[in-house]
Formats: sequence, C-alpha cells, structure tokens
Amino acid sequence: MALVDRAIARFLPAVPKPVVRRISERYIAGEELDDALRVVYRLNAEEKMATIDVLGEEIANEEESRSIAAAYREAFEAIERGGLDSNVSVKPTALGLELGYDLFRENLVAVVEDAARRGNFVRIDMEDGSTTDDTLRLYRELREAGHDNLGIVLQARLKRSLDDVAALADLRPSVRLCKGIYLEPAEIAFRDFEAIRGNFVQLLDALWDAGCYVGVATHDEWLVERAKQGVSDRGLGRDDYEFQMLLGVRPALGDELVREGHRLRIYTPFGRYWYAYSMRRLQENPKIAGYIAADTLNRLIPGRNGSA
Ligand SMILES: Cc1cc2nc3c(=O)[nH]c(=O)nc-3n(C[C@H](O)[C@H](O)[C@H](O)COP(=O)(O)OP(=O)(O)OC[C@H]3O[C@@H](n4cnc5c(N)ncnc54)[C@H](O)[C@@H]3O)c2cc1C
Repeated sequence: MALVDRAIARFLPAVPKPVVRRISERYIAGEELDDALRVVYRLNAEEKMATIDVLGEEIANEEESRSIAAAYREAFEAIERGGLDSNVSVKPTALGLELGYDLFRENLVAVVEDAARRGNFVRIDMEDGSTTDDTLRLYRELREAGHDNLGIVLQARLKRSLDDVAALADLRPSVRLCKGIYLEPAEIAFRDFEAIRGNFVQLLDALWDAGCYVGVATHDEWLVERAKQGVSDRGLGRDDYEFQMLLGVRPALGDELVREGHRLRIYTPFGRYWYAYSMRRLQENPKIAGYIAADTLNRLIPGRNGSA
C-alpha cells in the first residue's frame, strides 16, 4: 500500500460516517435481507455461490444478539424458498460472545439447528485473537454433539494456526483459510507480508494433508495460483474445495476462476450494523486515498458524476 494510503487508512476513524457509507457501498449488499437476496440471485446467475453474513458485531445487549440469530432464520427460509445457492457466515460477537459464552452457544445452536432443518451450512467467522479459544472450543463442543453442518475459519496471520490444524484434525473440519484481518500483537501474529503468505501455504498443505475441505479465501493472485497448483498436484475434484472472495473485491479475478471451472463463493454481508465491517474493508483497500478524494470532490462540485 502506498505511503499516503497507509496514512489515510490510519485516519479513517475520523472520516464522517456518511462518507464511509458512500465509499464502502461496494462491499455491502444493503441494509435488508431482500438486498442480500438480490445480490445472491445475481451471483448465482454468474455461477457463483454465496455466504450471507448478517452484520451485527456492534450489538450491545442480549436482545440484539437474539435478533441477529432470528435474522439468520429468515435468511435460511428465503434461501430455501428462492432455491438459492448460499450458506451463511456468523460472527461470534454478533451472536453475543462478548456478553457471555453461554449466550453465544445458545444463539449459535439455534442458528445451526435452523440451518440443519433446511439442509444448510453455517461457517463461524474468526474474529480477533481474544476470541479464538472460545470460538474453537464451541466448534468442538457442537461437532461432538453431532452438529456436522458447521465450519470454522483459520487465519494465516496467527502463529498458533498450524497447531490448531493438528488439534482439530480428528474432527476433519471444513475450514475457510484466510490471511486474517485483525492487527494482532507480534507475540501471537506474523506481521510481515511474506511470512503471512508462507504460513498460508503451509496451512493449506496441512489442511489438505489432514483430508479437510478448504475454502481458499484470498484475493492475492500469488496465493490463488499456489492453491490452483495444489489442486492439480493432489488431483482434487471440483467439489473437493472452493475459492472464496469478498463482495466488491477483485471481481475480475473471481470471474476468471469461474471461467476456469473452479467453484467460487462470495461473502455477502447485509444489515444495519455496517460500520465496523466497512472500516476493515476500507483499511485494506489499496486505493482508499483516491476514493476519499473523489467523494470529497463530488460533494464540493455538485453535478460531478451525476451526483447533484
Ligand atoms: C470470503 C472471505 C472471508 C473472510 N473471513 C475472514 C474471517 O473470518 N476472519 C478474518 O480475520 N478475515 C477474514 N477475511 C479477510 C482476510 O483475512 C483478509 O483480510 C482479506 O481477504 C485480504 O487478504 P488477501 O488474502 O485478499 O490478501 P491481500 O494481500 O490483502 O490482498 C490482495 C489484493 O486484493 C485486493 N484487495 C484486498 N482487499 C481489498 C479491499 N478491501 N478493497 C479493494 N481491494 C482489495 C488488493 O488488490 C490487494 O493487493 C475473509 C476474506 C474472505 C475473502
């Protein structure tokens, strides 16, 4: 990322919310379930699968965490009704982890049981390092209780992840592998770009060696190529793995994967708690300075780009 963009990324929290909202629109389907469904219809028509995320990591109380769980129930109904190809992703904090482990468990069990009734699948997103133990602990509890329609995420940024693969191997988990977005202390995380890439490659190999289904979640072309090579070296079939990307990020790279015959799933977030998610996406956008400048110009010069 260029110096000016990195500086701007650091000052993003000072950018007014309406500006953040405008420049992050490409990453979010909208505020309502219908907005997400429209996007999923379009993705499915382009032969892409989806995973719907009900945004909610800013929730403040038990009732709000339950309403996020209920929103997933509506999503499963709508996915089934529309014959859509989409599963869901849930954030532990949106289901109440910060308010208590038991509340998180209660809400997650409700979502997983709703999913099972409709033949659907739930991926537990991985948040910052303070949540990793609880997230993996609940994953094991639920799998041991017989809930098989459930997967996890491992982050290449974290030094512990290879040990986590070994510790979870007996469950043959379905794993989304990503770099990890949360900035973690150096004691627990790699900071260097190449070290994170290197760990991603090691993790991918370890997961495949353990017979796991992997969702390769990256927009890093080098890693995409490395994963394609692994698929071909191991003779994996089309249904034995998938690529995953975020809505609004590098769509041309995704189109190319689909053209080549790989399965691709697009992470499709919606909801009224859009701020924290948008901030993370903007912090990663290498062209953030340009977007903010363009938005500012649009407001200073009404009529530019038809924005009057
Ligand atoms: C489907 C999916 C689910 C994810 N789930 C989690 C999760 O549960 N927990 C977690 O910690 N992280 C998650 N992530 C985020 C992930 O950890 C990375 O932060 C993010 O994907 C960027 O890393 P990268 O591998 O794409 O590589 P990078 O090197 O960061 O990006 C590669 C290239 O992609 C482009 N790019 C990346 N981000 C943006 C952006 N926001 N806007 C515009 N261009 C961009 C740039 O051209 C960049 O050079 C998920 C990512 C995906 C794709």
